[in-house]
Amino acid sequence: MEWLSISSEPPSSKAAKVAVRSDLAEYIECPSSRPESWNDWRWQLKNRITSLEALKDLIPLTRREEEGIKRATGRLAMAITPYFLSLIDRQDPKCPIRKQAIPRLEEFSVSSCEMVDPCGEDSHSPVPGLVHRYPDRALLIVTDSCAMYCRYCTRKRMVGEEHPPMPIDRFDDAIKYIKSKKSIRDILISGGDPLMMKTEVLEDYIKRLRAIPHLEVIRIGTRVPVTLPMRVTGELVAMLRKYHPLYISIHFSHPKEISAKTTSRPRIEAHRLC
Ligand code: SF4
Repeated sequence: MEWLSISSEPPSSKAAKVAVRSDLAEYIECPSSRPESWNDWRWQLKNRITSLEALKDLIPLTRREEEGIKRATGRLAMAITPYFLSLIDRQDPKCPIRKQAIPRLEEFSVSSCEMVDPCGEDSHSPVPGLVHRYPDRALLIVTDSCAMYCRYCTRKRMVGEEHPPMPIDRFDDAIKYIKSKKSIRDILISGGDPLMMKTEVLEDYIKRLRAIPHLEVIRIGTRVPVTLPMRVTGELVAMLRKYHPLYISIHFSHPKEISAKTTSRPRIEAHRLC
């Protein structure tokens, strides 16, 4: 997984260590016990909770959750950052953070009127990875990876397998298409989550889009500032700032997702980019 920021070495190997389970339980329950590495987004990714066994040690689960986790394999498998898990009310099965992160049995009950591609993206894709449904705007799907997999995701058909990001030849085709359609003035970079990519890869994509004269608006759609706010570092903000004006569409689903981490300095700076 060379392509994923997750595989990059964090600032110190100590910070990169996968936490032992009992430590993780303590960090989640007791904020004052958290080590400095808690604030390292790579540590958070390495310590994502991805199995029933691991989650059971950290939070009491309902039977429906246990069944849901067992079924959530492959695409949109469970992956929860320790940070996001720490926002969950462990005693409340109806906690809104919990319902977004922990699969439940009901998720696998699919009615005949439900659609695999509810936004009709696949049928409006002139080149792979690009959706052009409205005349003046287009959507670039650059990765299938996210920090946390939201149980309500409308792209569950394509996210969660953590493949490498859009390869350069495919990106070239998308750029060629956008250049050929002068009506496109607004591009949304999405996924998956674009902020899961290495900063330099994301910069390369943004730089090439910024060079297209008829593109007035470049947007990045992300939930990373909500589920992995540590990723919004000064370095990332400095890179994004070079391409001002950029618009970051941050998807908050509930007020309980707003914490001191989501509102800290680099995150506020990022919010001010536009
Ligand atoms: S971050 Fe977005 S793309 Fe990823 S699982 Fe959540 S809703 Fe889906």
